[in-house]
Amino acid sequence: MVQMSSEFVFTLVYLLICLCLIFPPTEVRSAGLTLQNVLSAWLGSEDMQFIQYHIKRTTAAAWLHSLLPLGYYIGLGFACPKLNLFQISELSYGWLAYLGIAAAIHLLACALSCYWVTNKFGNHPIAWALHHQGNNSPWTDVAARINEEFRRIDKFTTGPPDLRVIVTDSWVIKTWAYGVNVAHQADCHLNLLRTEDHAISHESRTGVQYLAMQVISANTHIKAFEIRLLSSDYKDLRDKLTVPVVNARNVVIQQTLTDRFLEAFREQVHRNPLFVPAPGSPAPDNCIGCLQVRADIKLVKQCAEGQQGDCIQCFCRPMWCLECMCKWFASRQNQSQPESWMASKSPCPTCRSKFCMLDVCLIHPE
Ligand SMILES: [Zn+2]
Ligand SMILES: [Zn+2]
Ligand SMILES: [Zn+2]
Repeated sequence: MVQMSSEFVFTLVYLLICLCLIFPPTEVRSAGLTLQNVLSAWLGSEDMQFIQYHIKRTTAAAWLHSLLPLGYYIGLGFACPKLNLFQISELSYGWLAYLGIAAAIHLLACALSCYWVTNKFGNHPIAWALHHQGNNSPWTDVAARINEEFRRIDKFTTGPPDLRVIVTDSWVIKTWAYGVNVAHQADCHLNLLRTEDHAISHESRTGVQYLAMQVISANTHIKAFEIRLLSSDYKDLRDKLTVPVVNARNVVIQQTLTDRFLEAFREQVHRNPLFVPAPGSPAPDNCIGCLQVRADIKLVKQCAEGQQGDCIQCFCRPMWCLECMCKWFASRQNQSQPESWMASKSPCPTCRSKFCMLDVCLIHPE
């Protein structure tokens, strides 16, 4: 009974260690206990040599992770001596089979990493993929082009360090535990596959939506791959892409929370009564927020006493446009409680008198 439980405890602990190694949580990452950190001297700089860095990283990850099944066997042998795991001749068939498979996995990984390392990593699958991208020019030339674009600060990146999506001026790249997918933008198009809605994420207290897309290259040597990103990052991705995103399945992309609020705010303002300026009063100047359009908002206390509480009549002349007033209102709200925004108040940007959404009036066009 005692032995069963120590075996069980060891298995649990070992599984946990494996998980931390393969998918390091933020705590492990911030403590610097990741493969990338431990091997940083050998891996080099990702910013300078993006492709070479990931070729080495994936090789090291494949080799190291292939040790895990064997490590379990050896660890268990020490943790539970009564299992007699080191007496090969007395092993049960089950353990013999496990040992055989674990050793085979590791030997295979050793052979594979040796093959990848030879020829200056030219046999690595990432190098092969690049070789096919560049009209059969050497993979190092294509890698140099990608490295150069990765160093630019205007690239698009999203996702956790182990599963990143990167879009540079001419490449769509996805990095994952054992590989990197690369597609040349000019050869590919993106397909919106589906959305995944999550009620609560660790990043925000409100719901988030993920988009899954497939990157399909016209180059027959490049296999299609899937990328995942927050729908709030979708606009930035589109801005960086020069190729179309096909939405054949009519996937509905959620707007960001602020976008949805701004839409509701605008609707409410259009329902509010118009403000008619006194005859002979000067036309408003340009909005002092954006300086782009004429100010078209006047704050007039419309809400009934007690209904909305403590709104105060503002006597400022019109100085803001609807868009800027919207954004100002949203910026003054409690960012962690968006459900309260519609019923809240904001101070006037100029005189600080409180107003609510009912008090925001468009100016009657003369
Ligand atoms: Zn404005
Ligand atoms: Zn005011
Ligand atoms: Zn009010």
